Amino acid sequence: MSHELRTPLNAIIGFLGIMLMSGQLNERNTFLAGRARANSDRLLRLINDILDISRIEAGRLQLYPVDVEVRELVRRLKDQMSIFAEEKGLHMKIQIDDSVPVYVRIDEDALTKILTNLLSNGFKFTENGHVALNMHLEHDNLVIAVSDTGIGIPAHMRDIIFESFRQVDSSMTRQHGGSGLGLAIVRHLCTAMQGTVIVDSKVGRGSTFTVVLPLATAYEKEKSIT
Ligand code: ADP
Repeated sequence: MSHELRTPLNAIIGFLGIMLMSGQLNERNTFLAGRARANSDRLLRLINDILDISRIEAGRLQLYPVDVEVRELVRRLKDQMSIFAEEKGLHMKIQIDDSVPVYVRIDEDALTKILTNLLSNGFKFTENGHVALNMHLEHDNLVIAVSDTGIGIPAHMRDIIFESFRQVDSSMTRQHGGSGLGLAIVRHLCTAMQGTVIVDSKVGRGSTFTVVLPLATAYEKEKSIT
């Protein structure tokens, strides 16, 4: 299923990339191909999210803890996110405490998805100020805080946003794109890793998502965690 959905879309994205780089399109067609490319990317992200949530809900999530060089992973994410920061003129503050070892035993894909979802939400819902990522180790738990100075989340929505397809603003006219699956995936992944995710927020002031993940040695013996 994953292959059937992703392969044709990847081909479309690849061809559009070739067209855009060929230098043979006039201004109007460059614009149109650019829009097609941006929409294909969005569709691919949506398909990836739906596949992730289906796999999780079907109880087929597998975790493969490995020794992850966490500062390197964060550096890669910072590069990916810097485009959003630049576009909106936001600062990105990253702080990894010395208590975090060079290698952290954890599922790399799951950690990447958690950080990507939280950081991209931070940039999406912030117009001024910064998005920050802080990490430290506390009693063999990796503690991750992603905070922003964005629009904040009303108190009555703070649990609901972790459910699939739920958004604070679900109107047709809403300003921000997205599937409403990111935080559901984050919560499922945290639970599967025997960790937690909570949010603290002030409307108009910003939000902080705090993830606590035990290092994998604590659950590694269980080969498949659902
Ligand atoms: P999506 O971002 O695709 O809508 P998510 O599941 O990641 O889906 O988030 C669900 C909703 O939670 C968002 O639509 C938004 O209303 C709210 N939200 C998430 N992160 C933030 C944030 N950092 N600041 C404000 N609102 C947020």
